[in-house]
Amino acid sequence: MSSAILTIDLDAIAENWRALDAMTGCETAAVVKADAYGLGAAQVAPVLAREGVQRFFVAMAEEGAALRAQLGPDPDILVFSGHMPGDTDLIADHRLTPLLNSIDQLTLQFEALPGHPFGIQLDTGMNRLGMEWEEWAVVAEIAIEQHPVLVMSHLACADEPDHPMNPYQLDLFHQMTDGMDVPRSLAATGGILLGPDYHFDLTRPGIGLYGAAPFVQARPTVRLDLPVVQIRSLREGEVAGYGNSWQAARPSRIATLSTGYADGMLRSLSHKALLWHEGTPCPLVGRVSMDLVTVDVTDLPQEPAFLTLIGPGQGVDQLADQAGTIGYEMLTALGPRYARRYLSG
Ligand SMILES: *Cc1c(COP(=O)(O)O)cnc(C)c1O
Repeated sequence: MSSAILTIDLDAIAENWRALDAMTGCETAAVVKADAYGLGAAQVAPVLAREGVQRFFVAMAEEGAALRAQLGPDPDILVFSGHMPGDTDLIADHRLTPLLNSIDQLTLQFEALPGHPFGIQLDTGMNRLGMEWEEWAVVAEIAIEQHPVLVMSHLACADEPDHPMNPYQLDLFHQMTDGMDVPRSLAATGGILLGPDYHFDLTRPGIGLYGAAPFVQARPTVRLDLPVVQIRSLREGEVAGYGNSWQAARPSRIATLSTGYADGMLRSLSHKALLWHEGTPCPLVGRVSMDLVTVDVTDLPQEPAFLTLIGPGQGVDQLADQAGTIGYEMLTALGPRYARRYLSG
């Protein structure tokens, strides 16, 4: 068996959802876009539905259609990208709820699917998705008459609790929505941690469910074990990998492992990552290749069959730090070639 084993702990994901839910007095939804941040929406979403999640968020209508097949008719599935031209049939056939981002989307929705549930996304300064104040002022009254299921906005800097953008966006969201008879949502994982002022009627955590920053108390949800394909002895002065960029400073034993940048083992981890054999760290040496990496196992007492890249010795966030990225990117990059094992119950 040369494929790495990615173990995904569904119980830990459920526990993280319960922990985030316990921090607020409002409804807690779940964001499962990008295949549940790379961990498998087909496995993750039904577990969260059993925990009591009634509303799921995805990025695009196609993801919503796939999720509907996995979840059955009951939960609501809301789509961040709203109602794009060409989405009408998907939205109608799979009973998706678009979060309308512009007057054009609102017009399309009301013409193509009158009476169909929808929500509204407002821009409060991130300048990515949603209606800005001027557009909202034009259509707010008409939109509210049609009873949107939710009016939401998104924080740009919620992972930095002291950032002045947080109270600025909160204030703007209030000004754009106060006095309107409609459920509201502003917080993702970072916003939940900012406290009750940010919670409104519903929160939308993603990354916190999957065990990464900014929810640092989260239970880890993934473990990645990489099989050793081969071990060889190098004399002092011999080199390893593309570009001969690593040279043995002592007689060394070098293990070749089955993972590479095609599996989300980012090439920026070359010469940087640590892999673990039980409690002992072993440095990745040389460059990450497409399918293989080389690791210095000289200091291990015996030849390992596997080394652990993500596990008790090193979490997703630590590895992301070494790669110069964030847990979100590390998780969504986890490769399709890994054999996936799901733990639950
Ligand atoms: C991705 C996303 C979320 C979830 O954010 P996390 O930081 O992963 O909790 C919530 N709302 C919107 C609009 C998003 O794009």
